[in-house]
Amino acid sequence: MEKQDTNIAGICSPAIGEAGKTGDWSDLKPVIDHTKCIPSSKNKAACFLCWLYCPDGVVSMSIPVRINLDYCKGCGICAEECPPNAIRMVRKVECDDE
Ligand code: SF4
Ligand code: SF4
Repeated sequence: MEKQDTNIAGICSPAIGEAGKTGDWSDLKPVIDHTKCIPSSKNKAACFLCWLYCPDGVVSMSIPVRINLDYCKGCGICAEECPPNAIRMVRKVECDDE
């Protein structure tokens, strides 16, 4: 049987580019509240809209849902699409000059 492509999320699997791990560029990071996240709170493989919409393919379709911050760009699409608002975008570092 022909090997199936496991790469069906947004675009492709994350990989180290010429500039290194691309998650280093991001200013914001997503933080999941697993008490609100549907797969964890219901112990059921459901929802996974964050996995579906992530343009970088860095969200795992697992219980609990995990995000690979080494490659997450901090775009916030996952937080926008999450039905129970389980994802919060937080600033990675505070600016010294603010
Ligand atoms: S912030 Fe963007 S890149 Fe990071 S996990 Fe969410 S959708 Fe993917
Ligand atoms: S979209 Fe929200 S509720 Fe759905 S799996 Fe992702 S974090 Fe959990």
